[in-house]
Parts: sequence; structure tokens; C-alpha cells
Amino acid sequence: MYKLTIEETAYFCQPDETVLDALLRENVNIPYACKKGTCHSCMVRSPDTPPPEAAQAGLKSTLKKRNHFLACLCHPEQDMVIKLPDQSEFYTEGTVVANEMLNRNTLLLIIAFKDAFEFNAGQFVNLQRPDGLTRSYSIANIPQQSNTLEFHIRRLPNGRFSEWLHDEIKVGDSIAVSEPRGHCFYLPERHEQGLLLVGTGTGLAPLAGILTDALAQGHTGPIYLFHGSREVEDLYRVDEMRQLSEQHENFQYMPCISGKHVPEGFIHGRVNDVALASLTDLKGWRIFLCGHPEMVNQMKKMTFLKGAASADIYADAFTVSPT
Ligand SMILES: Cc1cc2nc3c(=O)[nH]c(=O)nc-3n(C[C@H](O)[C@H](O)[C@H](O)COP(=O)(O)OP(=O)(O)OC[C@H]3O[C@@H](n4cnc5c(N)ncnc54)[C@H](O)[C@@H]3O)c2cc1C
Repeated sequence: MYKLTIEETAYFCQPDETVLDALLRENVNIPYACKKGTCHSCMVRSPDTPPPEAAQAGLKSTLKKRNHFLACLCHPEQDMVIKLPDQSEFYTEGTVVANEMLNRNTLLLIIAFKDAFEFNAGQFVNLQRPDGLTRSYSIANIPQQSNTLEFHIRRLPNGRFSEWLHDEIKVGDSIAVSEPRGHCFYLPERHEQGLLLVGTGTGLAPLAGILTDALAQGHTGPIYLFHGSREVEDLYRVDEMRQLSEQHENFQYMPCISGKHVPEGFIHGRVNDVALASLTDLKGWRIFLCGHPEMVNQMKKMTFLKGAASADIYADAFTVSPT
């Protein structure tokens, strides 16, 4: 058992417990969301002692050097003094400038900033409520489109954060937004390479950013976007995507419905099955997978088995927070 000291109060971390679980058990108010090392919302600092290497997985080297680490990945190897992050260190205040429905359960939220917000299309940020509740959301626009970020937020029944955004947040409200995170974005290289984009539900958000970026940067290889849901009412931006595919010869849009009622112009089947049946050889392709964790994990394996190099497979699984 190791001692964790925060502002001169001592807490104890049981064997096999992470620092995050120990602090939550002790009722310390620490932001967190995914508990898997993805969202980085539980980043803290150990000013005096280097944290275990595994607790710094995925952090920038500048943060590593300053002994930042992820509390959810940290199994202490000695007693630690811990500094909780100062809110202003990683968060910027933005103002909501638009909130409207994209379909029956998906909200379009646009947040504006005073200064330029630097990001790559397809990355995600953490949004934070004034009480500290934090969730990750993908950016759906590209950086060139002004000092705004666009999000697509699905309402989860009894979801604490998504219902708050749907029901309470209004135009003019301010909201805390973290630095951009994640590696699922388009790099303007190998313009002739095939791009396969597969998403479920609001997985379209990062894919829309990646697609817009690739087209704007003059990507010449074939680009396939497969967007799926159970019912047609849960797809969105269908007309815009169809229009884009008319404007760009190399872009194919495949809206997929897994439920029984499939209107004309839509493909019947689960999005992963349809994508894999349509493209049988993925050697040399770049793959982007976003949305339901099961779909993302299955497609990572299958696209690799169909020839894509693992370094060319980018994925964002929309894991929900454990209850
Ligand atoms: C990298 C990343 C990017 C993300 N991007 C987006 C995005 O662009 N858009 C978006 O909408 N979300 C996105 N998410 C998911 C988002 O972060 C939240 O997890 C989601 O909004 C739910 O949060 P909540 O507080 O509303 O729900 P919570 O209060 O956290 O409730 C979650 C709980 O709901 C239950 N639950 C899980 N799935 C379902 C379901 N299908 N139906 C009913 N109940 C369920 C589970 O018990 C779960 O514990 C992303 C997640 C990650 C990790």
C-alpha cells in the first residue's frame, strides 16, 4: 500500500488499485471520464518523483518531462506527492454560438473562441461542466473554418453529460474545452492512397472532419465513407454527403441501415459487413474507424486481415464512462 499526498492530506492506494480509483474511493474531486487512458481528463502531476512509465502512455514529451501522468493508468511504485491540475492549465473557455438538431437524437453544437483554436480535423476534446463532469467529443469541422469547433452530440438515455448539453446549454453560454487530443486525423501525404472511412452514429463527426480535410488538401485516391445506424432516422447529413460525392469523382458515400425498413437509396446491412463486402483488398489503404467500440474493434482486426498495414489504421472508439 502506498501513500498519496495531495496538499498535505494523505490518502492510501491499495495494491491493484489505480491512483484514480483510490482518489475516487477517498471522495477526492478529480475530473475523469473514460478510465482507459484515452481522454486524458484525469491527468495529474507528481512534482518530485517520476511516475511509472506506463502511466505516461500517449502523453506529449513536454508533459512527460514535467512528470504529468494519467491517474487512471497509474499503479504507484512508491509513495507519491500529487498535484491536481489547475483548470486554466488545460482548458479554454468557449461560447456556444449554435445548437440545433441534426436528427431526432443528435445535436449540432458550435463553440466559438476569441483566439484561433489549433487542432487537426478528426481530433477530440474534453468538454467540462462547471461541476467538473467531463466527457470527450470529436471535432467535426476543419481548422480553416474560423475560430469555432463543431460537435455532433447523441442524446444517451439518462446520460448525464449528453442530456445536459441537449436540454440545458443555450446559445451564449460559456463552456470549458480542453486541448485537442487523439491521433485519428488526416495527414496530407500519399495523396493517391485509398481512404476507407467507417462510422456508426455520431462517429460521422470526426469522419466528416477527416473527409473535408482530405478533399480540401487535394486527395486524389478513392475515398469511401460508410455511415451506419439501425434506422434511417438516426443517420444525418445524408443530403450533404450525397452532394459531396456528386462534386468529387473520387468520393463514394454509402449510407447503411441495419434494421428492417430500408428506403430506396440506402444499403441494407451492418456498416462493417457492407464495408468489408464492398472492398475486399485493403493493401495500401488508409483506414479511419469511429463510433461504437465493438464495431471499431472488429473492423481494426478485419481491415488488418484484408491487407491494411496496422500503422495505417486510425481509430476512435466512443467508449462511454463506466457507471
Ligand atoms: C474519443 C471519444 C470521442 C467521442 N466522441 C463523441 C461524439 O463525437 N459524439 C457523441 O455523442 N459521443 C462521443 N463520445 C462519447 C461521449 O464521450 C460520452 O461517453 C457520451 O456522450 C455519454 O456520456 P453521458 O454523460 O451522456 O452518459 P453517462 O452518464 O456517462 O452514461 C453512460 C452510461 O450509459 C449506459 N449506456 C451505454 N451505452 C448506452 C446506449 N447505447 N443506450 C443506453 N444507455 C447506454 C451505460 O450504462 C453507460 O455507463 C466520445 C467518446 C470518446 C472516448
